[in-house]
Amino acid sequence: MQMQRDIDLQPLNTLAVPAKAEHFCAVTTLAELQTALAVARKEHWQLYVLGGGSNVVLHPQLGGLVLQMNIKGREILHRTATEVILRVGAGESWHDLVEYCLNNGFHGLENLALIPGTVGAAPVQNIGAYGVEICRFIDRVEGLSLPSGESISLTAAECEFAYRDSIFKNRLRGQFIITAVILRLPLRFSPEISYPALREAIEADVSAQAVFEAVCRVRRSKLPDPHIIPNCGSFFKNPLVPWARYESLQRQFPLMPSYAVTQISEAEPVRKLAAAWLIDQAGWRGRVFRGVKVHEYQALVLTNPERVNAEAVLATADAIRIDVQARFGVDLEMEPQIFGDSGEGGTCL
Ligand code: FAD
Ligand code: NAP
Repeated sequence: MQMQRDIDLQPLNTLAVPAKAEHFCAVTTLAELQTALAVARKEHWQLYVLGGGSNVVLHPQLGGLVLQMNIKGREILHRTATEVILRVGAGESWHDLVEYCLNNGFHGLENLALIPGTVGAAPVQNIGAYGVEICRFIDRVEGLSLPSGESISLTAAECEFAYRDSIFKNRLRGQFIITAVILRLPLRFSPEISYPALREAIEADVSAQAVFEAVCRVRRSKLPDPHIIPNCGSFFKNPLVPWARYESLQRQFPLMPSYAVTQISEAEPVRKLAAAWLIDQAGWRGRVFRGVKVHEYQALVLTNPERVNAEAVLATADAIRIDVQARFGVDLEMEPQIFGDSGEGGTCL
């Protein structure tokens, strides 16, 4: 493990905002992680945990330590006639894991193909696509509690998963480093093809391989490749609005798309609105503001072709949010996590 100084983080975040870490280290084992934490604790450094950098907005100067999770490894813990229990290191690539599972007949992750980033970050925002959320397959999450560094294992229920949300974005934000994720995957394939775009892309064969390939095809046709056009995926969550609010909007805007919310239990009934439609109707699709371009094919994605800084990106997001609020009375919540100059998104040990 090497503790480095003044490291350029622009190549390490898919939005390609210019940013520097005062100190940086990539850890590949639990022992290295504990050593890095001990140094940060001794020096009273602010600590930021980075995976693949595909869901963060980084401010230009991050004081303290940026720790990159590179702990690898896949291990079958248990296998029965119907399912397999798999332990995966937090630093593994998410998409590589999806491919590995597909090739070994472990099912469920096909719809989550091509999501960038690491396995350790997947529970943080309960990654989801095409009607599947990772929480469906999580048995438990292992990690270190901060600031103590104590090893802890949380069950799926304890992770408080919700729509693109979990305890790691809320009560345990900056307080828990995920070191491994334990997945429970069925050996029998049961397709989830309720999303129209996916259903249309699948021909006669509805095998796991066919669903995986269709997901990859549809995503490649619609989403900008961050290696070519910097972006961090959807910049806003689809808003979940109370039923009465949805009905009044529906009366005002009869063409407004909306969706049933099936995978989470809310205290009161809610309906999911399509943030991309709201942004488009507010006149933002394809528009450029402060060097940030709202993607033509998916208005939820803010792209950063000029590699402008976090301030410009966040100002653009604010301008969009203000317009959507003025037109529809709906608040858009940002999806990526901010690592701020003043410690936002990090923790002081
Ligand atoms: P990072 O961006 O590095 O970190 C994200 C957050 O997780 C930060 O707060 C960080 O501190 C925390 N974190 C990371 N690793 C750990 C760890 N080991 N322990 C504790 N905290 C940690 N998301 C979806 O849900 N569905 C999609 O379909 C989807 N598609 C995308 C498409 C594109 C083109 C892009 C660029 C992004 C997309 N995303 C999508 C968003 C993103 O890929 C996911 O949120 C992904 O899980 C982030 O992984 P990462 O390793 O890059 O996390
Ligand atoms: P899409 O298929 O064009 O759908 C547009 C929106 O409508 C999506 O946001 C989706 O909600 C919703 N939707 C469509 N059919 C639905 C149904 N049957 N039930 C409930 N909701 C439905 O979306 P897309 O932009 O091409 O993305 C495809 C999938 O990849 C989506 O699930 C999306 O969330 C995911 N994705 C996520 C990110 C990210 O960064 N978070 C980036 C790219 C793609 P949901 O978003 O809730 O699924």
